[in-house]
Amino acid sequence: MNYKLPELKYDYSALEPHISARIMELHHSKHHQAYVTGANAASEAMAEARETNNFSNLPKLQKDLAFNLGGHVNHSIFWENLSPHSGEPSSELAAALTEYFGSFEMFKNHFVAAALGIQGSGWAYLAWDALGNRLIIGQLYDQQGNLAMGSIPLLMLDMWEHAFYLDYQNVKADYVKAFWNIVNWEDVSRRFGSVSVNSRSLLLG
Ligand code: MN
Repeated sequence: MNYKLPELKYDYSALEPHISARIMELHHSKHHQAYVTGANAASEAMAEARETNNFSNLPKLQKDLAFNLGGHVNHSIFWENLSPHSGEPSSELAAALTEYFGSFEMFKNHFVAAALGIQGSGWAYLAWDALGNRLIIGQLYDQQGNLAMGSIPLLMLDMWEHAFYLDYQNVKADYVKAFWNIVNWEDVSRRFGSVSVNSRSLLLG
């Protein structure tokens, strides 16, 4: 098995009242687990295709891998992005948010609009664009769509209904508002600190 469900660094109930223990338990142990299982299955089927030199099913397997590995990556980051102790962005990250989005408020407004504007299932994300050497905000569709290669995720917000429906029903805006109370800014700042220096060389040599 290439992929494994990561353990959370906090209890399922730790993010209450912003996200309930029931959602956290289902989301981690069932939904995230399903992506891990799917990524392993696609990966193993590809190994078999290579061994038998039979690639007739390959387009489906590639889609399965992108979707399920995407789900595994996204949730692995999302859990780390959350904490009962929210804190503040580092001074370097705060300065970069102001530089690339105008101000912290303007960053937040853009991020919230990205989250609330997703049509269907997906994610809002803050990423480091390694080619332009700058922060960008994006909408990720499903687990893998609408994304430029070279975007390194720093902060992700799950906007699939399974992430909020039990607590917030259709009122997505309240879920997004609650999210800001549990953003682990220490984690986001750490990610920012490690990508911003030489990431362009990963793309261009
Ligand atoms: Mn999810």
